[in-house]
Amino acid sequence: MRKNEQAWLNAREITPHKRELAQRTLEDIRSGSKVFDALRRNPLPNGDGFLNKSVLVAVYRDLVAQGEWEKDPALLAKIRLKPMRTLSGVTTVTVLTKPYPCPGKCIFCPTDVRMPKSYLPDEPGAMRALFHEFDPFDQVAARIEALHAVGHPTDKIELLILGGTWSSYRKDYQEWFIKRCFDAINERPFDSLSEAQAFNETAEHRNVGLAVETRPDHVTPKELAWLRKLGVTKVQIGVQSMDDRILELNRRGHTVAEARAAFALLRAAGFKIVAHWMPNLLGATPASDCEDFAHLWRGLAPDELKIYPTQLLANAELYEYWQRGEYTPYTTEELIELIANIKTTIPRYCRVTASSAIFLPQTL
Ligand code: SF4
Repeated sequence: MRKNEQAWLNAREITPHKRELAQRTLEDIRSGSKVFDALRRNPLPNGDGFLNKSVLVAVYRDLVAQGEWEKDPALLAKIRLKPMRTLSGVTTVTVLTKPYPCPGKCIFCPTDVRMPKSYLPDEPGAMRALFHEFDPFDQVAARIEALHAVGHPTDKIELLILGGTWSSYRKDYQEWFIKRCFDAINERPFDSLSEAQAFNETAEHRNVGLAVETRPDHVTPKELAWLRKLGVTKVQIGVQSMDDRILELNRRGHTVAEARAAFALLRAAGFKIVAHWMPNLLGATPASDCEDFAHLWRGLAPDELKIYPTQLLANAELYEYWQRGEYTPYTTEELIELIANIKTTIPRYCRVTASSAIFLPQTL
């Protein structure tokens, strides 16, 4: 076992002494102390720092289960880790599909044989998926358990299915994958997806949203009818650029007109739409990106937006363009200025769920 893993396990282990400390800390918080102050007042022995919040959550749950304490949702909200993550009451569980060929030939997209197209194993969600060998049941079960352990609610779950182009996977795999996610959410095996969906309507742990990723040229009325049957509620769609010249240079394999048509179909069918957009593609400049971004709001108007600045990755074809001097990544300053400028132009109705130079272009 690696040193970090051992430290992680030690921090979460609950010895009798830690339990006593945790109970004292919880009592302090209940009587009005701030969490940080209460933790500092009850330090671990030998200068080992302070209790981990997951220990507080576990001890609180145990006290409630033993009937020693009444349920106290306000207290739980204070001690949960990363409270913003589930502030809306909905917990997002991210799962990745297995490695599979993608019909796209995008020059910026990395290839790692261990991963679905566009993903690298060093991102936490991707790492978890690889650890569970992309098994949907294991990924969902482990994630729900981990989120529960740090105090997050798990009664309303949004499933976010990532990995390559969803529509290019075999239909029987898609159906099986989602059914196994439902099996894990409800801790019981269903005979079919429709049985799982019917049970889900009144289940204690309920799936309230299901998102998949696809390409504009895969959005057809037939495909949307299929997505509806699977229970999909939200579609993440790679727009990347509103300029046909840039799309072609980067070998996206679809046009702006196809993106517009896909949005119209998705909108008419009632799906929530998440657009992915990429600055710094081959052929773009900060000025052209600014102009390009403005086109997103003329006709597309996504409900959510993810901005993925192009990354230069050694296992993507774009790297060779850079080696030949045909591609120049923006400087950090240029990128920050661009993002800062365009962010102010985003309409209030649109939620930005990712915008970072450190994320991968895990898009379609
Ligand atoms: S960016 Fe998306 S569509 Fe393009 S190759 Fe990668 S996974 Fe496929």
